[in-house]
Amino acid sequence: MTRSQVALTLLAAAILAPLNCRKAEGVENDPLDREAEVALVEYVKIDTSNPPGNETAGAKFLQQLFVKEGIEVKLVGSDPNRQSVYAKLSSGTNEKALLLMHHIDVVPAVANEWTKPPFSGDQSGGYIFGRGALDVKSLGVANMIAMIDLKRRNARLRRDIIFLGVADEELGGLRGCKELLEKNPELFANVGFVLNEGGYNETAVDKITFWGIETQQKVPLWLRLNVKGMPGHAASPPPGGGTIAKLVRVLDEVMKIETPYRLTPEVKRYFRDAGRSRPGNRGDVMRAIKEPLDIKQIEEVLPPGYRSMLQDTIVLTRVSGGAAPNSIPARASADVDIRLLPGTKIEPMLERVKSSVGKSAEVEVLLAGEPGPETSSDTELFRLLAKAMKEDEPGSDVAAIVGGGTSDSRFFRARGIPAYGIAPFKVNYYDADSVHGTDERIRARFFIEGTRLVRKIVADFCVRAK
Ligand SMILES: [Zn+2]
Repeated sequence: MTRSQVALTLLAAAILAPLNCRKAEGVENDPLDREAEVALVEYVKIDTSNPPGNETAGAKFLQQLFVKEGIEVKLVGSDPNRQSVYAKLSSGTNEKALLLMHHIDVVPAVANEWTKPPFSGDQSGGYIFGRGALDVKSLGVANMIAMIDLKRRNARLRRDIIFLGVADEELGGLRGCKELLEKNPELFANVGFVLNEGGYNETAVDKITFWGIETQQKVPLWLRLNVKGMPGHAASPPPGGGTIAKLVRVLDEVMKIETPYRLTPEVKRYFRDAGRSRPGNRGDVMRAIKEPLDIKQIEEVLPPGYRSMLQDTIVLTRVSGGAAPNSIPARASADVDIRLLPGTKIEPMLERVKSSVGKSAEVEVLLAGEPGPETSSDTELFRLLAKAMKEDEPGSDVAAIVGGGTSDSRFFRARGIPAYGIAPFKVNYYDADSVHGTDERIRARFFIEGTRLVRKIVADFCVRAK
């Protein structure tokens, strides 16, 4: 670069800087931005694919960062390979504590389907790539940075802040959050609020138009259907075509189970509130949603994510069986991921599956959720979240939403502890699809902005007014 080019570049940077740092609000060149980015890159490099999890490596990574800051931290959990990490900033008060949650484990990645190695922490094109970049190591780092920020500033707290990075969320949390709540209740003795994953935001040309704060979620029911038959040579098949053919017929029966559209009170409120900020047909349909539902209109106008909030869903997610093209196996199995509308008990659906497969398959329950209460949006924390989000993106709207997924929040809601699922990072729709998919990535700039938002939320809720 010549001197004049350098000068021009600096001039351009000076002109652009106020635009780029519009959100910085006095924290320009904050070293924590860079530290957050480095921490995320290092964190996604740790392979915590579940199964098997190996969350201890991720837990230790976070632990040493807390130790360096002099923040009280320990590893917790019964399995040495599947530890969770628990850190705390004490306030010396009895106010209800804020728990900042995320999960250390990630879903497995099929490396050859990715353009970047999934555990390389590749930084290119303004993105940080890696399994967990969105779901949900980014939130874990933001939570940690928010606490480090307060510790370094020696902030006087009005409530304790607890950090928890848990194992096993992706497979239902039974060996992570649920186990900790049951075996180590002292860790959560004074927790009054939980911030966790689970919300979402919508963008239009890099601006957030809508923030959804999750207060309720669908109920998971994961099943494995096991089929047995006579093994043998494929050249002389038994009547019915053998084990795999039997499994196909079983799955066909399961897929015939009807899941009619219906409207729950929480989804009705969610659609009406979220519809406010949506232009066009979609907004019209959401705002006017009521029973009896106009099925034709729903199917024409609403994308799958919204339609899934109006019905139970049954999806085949895995099939397994067979070893060679010319052999009939003795066993075959398939996994079915069922999500029931909020408030729905699992037993009736389980019975329907059992009766549809009859004696052809054994039905194994992998995960059975329980309908839990909704977290109220009439709390100090919800109002603070909504205010912070609206201020972060002027003109945006905020509402309590029902989540289609499952998270550890349900264990807290079942205990009557308010838990909010938030998505502090701006995510464009074309990046959002990388969650549980290929080339999972977060825009580095959006990660920094979201981390600053989390810092602000935690500070506003937990630091004593002067
Ligand atoms: Zn997640």
